[in-house]
Amino acid sequence: MAGIYIHIPFCLSKCAYCGFYSIPSQKRKAKFLESLRREMVSRKDYLHGETVETIYFGGGTPSILKVEEIENLLDLIKEQYDVEADPEITLEANPDTLSMAYLQGLRNLGVNRLSIGIQSFFDEDLRYLSRRHDAGHARQCVPLAKDAGFDNISIDLIYGLPTSNADQWNRNLDAFFELEVPHLSAYALTLEPNAILTKQIEMGKTLPVNEEDAVRDYEVLCRRAADNGYLHYEISNFCQPGKRSKHNSNYWFGIPYAGFGPSAHSFDGTSRQWSISSVEKWEGRQKSEDGSRKVVEMETLTPEQQYDEYVMLRLRTLWGIDLKYMKREMGERFADYCERQAEPLIAQGRLSRTREFLYLTDAQMLFADGIAEELFW
Ligand code: SF4
Repeated sequence: MAGIYIHIPFCLSKCAYCGFYSIPSQKRKAKFLESLRREMVSRKDYLHGETVETIYFGGGTPSILKVEEIENLLDLIKEQYDVEADPEITLEANPDTLSMAYLQGLRNLGVNRLSIGIQSFFDEDLRYLSRRHDAGHARQCVPLAKDAGFDNISIDLIYGLPTSNADQWNRNLDAFFELEVPHLSAYALTLEPNAILTKQIEMGKTLPVNEEDAVRDYEVLCRRAADNGYLHYEISNFCQPGKRSKHNSNYWFGIPYAGFGPSAHSFDGTSRQWSISSVEKWEGRQKSEDGSRKVVEMETLTPEQQYDEYVMLRLRTLWGIDLKYMKREMGERFADYCERQAEPLIAQGRLSRTREFLYLTDAQMLFADGIAEELFW
């Protein structure tokens, strides 16, 4: 079992808060696609022949690719990899890039999951984030995708925005529930060091972010998602029954995946690989077929790093840390250590335990990273 991630690094413009690797130009697209094909062939052994059950186009803005360009990439994957009969194929899309013809074209290719970067249903939030779409686009794109035949749709929303308040966040959630979208990824607005918004705030040119707003919104989100029958299966992810993202869940379960394109990461169970965050440098590396230049950076995880990785990933999820699994797969010393470290956290009410599982409740989840650090080796 394995997954494939493809990073499309192009966007129509740069959003102020963006911390992802993307460039606001498509000039290099044709060359990039050639290099991508080369990388997908040259690194195919990384998955050791495992069957691919999920394919994910992320970015950047993958929906700026033409249907034929996506088709060519999917054909190559099917030619080079052992792909299961009905894989989950997700494409991230921005509302302003979607049309009925485009969406139908994607469905005909077998793309069966759409992740739409809506972020907010309100114009003032979208302007603050400098998104290209407006509230009208945000409200129209989900019915459009449904009419084109997509029933597995996720949207992204951002909370903790200074242009919003408790009432407006509730109305954002009203819009989400009214549209009956089966999956939601909701993120607190974070100030990325390299983002334009961070600099604008530092210079006093725009509204600052208040962390308490994010805590307030998160609590409302968790409560309302539960009231509406959504499963909170990862810190930022909520789904209707049967609609969780298989691809992303596999990351949290340690299933191998190969990532292609600049800044993409890969994991094969014991080693991590990652590509440079620059299209030009990444393209240069793909040309060196004699192995004289490293195509990706690589790190083999020590048992201690594997333990830390497991703790960090699983604590973010509904399933939590399975001490029995840890004992069996990593050894008694890791399970005993984890249990010892967990005791004071449980006593302080920052971590929960049921039999062999350590997990975080909704209220504890916002602090997952700090709690994971206290369990690290
Ligand atoms: S937030 Fe998304 S759409 Fe905006 S610049 Fe970043 S990758 Fe592109």
